[in-house]
Amino acid sequence: MMSEPRSALRDALSGALSLVFPTWCAGCDAPDADLCAACRALLTPRVRARSIGGLDVRSGLDFDGVAARVLRAAKEEGRTSLLRALAPALDASVRDALARVPGDAVTLVPVPTSATAMRRRGYRVVELLASRAQLPTHRLLCVEGLAADQRGLGRVERARNVAGRMRARGAAGRAVLLIDDVVTTGATLHEAARALEEGGATVRGAATVASTALHRSSQRTHRL
Ligand SMILES: [Zn+2]
Repeated sequence: MMSEPRSALRDALSGALSLVFPTWCAGCDAPDADLCAACRALLTPRVRARSIGGLDVRSGLDFDGVAARVLRAAKEEGRTSLLRALAPALDASVRDALARVPGDAVTLVPVPTSATAMRRRGYRVVELLASRAQLPTHRLLCVEGLAADQRGLGRVERARNVAGRMRARGAAGRAVLLIDDVVTTGATLHEAARALEEGGATVRGAATVASTALHRSSQRTHRL
């Protein structure tokens, strides 16, 4: 019985707060929730595998519709609380990727955030996602030089923009799995894999939250 006045108070407070800080669903713009139940359900992971230039890439969601909107809101609008709802997709793709390499101690390495993106956002999306998914990561890669923002670049420009930009530290002798938020052309993952291998690591593949619908012919889908 004690909980009723408390919950009435909570409702009143939340109503008052929504007047001051109006909120809306990042997936469909419905009012009064960061993420409505219907959109949350659409973020249930369904792992896909792609092979991009020989690199095995697992992704928990397709990068379109609600998943794309929610990820963009978390990355570009500072709505970092949404990362918790995306974390299961990263967790599922990592588990799927690790299931391929039984018995190996694999280090999870986040694709590095460029200085430009870090200045714009003030946070590292991939590392926050991993922490929400309770996945331990090791920051073995850094970006050198002033690579332009990858947004808005085509396939060839993306590859040229990141080629040779990354350096690995402390990677020698490790088996690693790359993790990232979205894979589009795979240019960034390839550069990360190149740098890690140059640093003496063995790259076992990559796991991402979401994947664009490119390379459909090389996709295969299976449920966890
Ligand atoms: Zn919604």
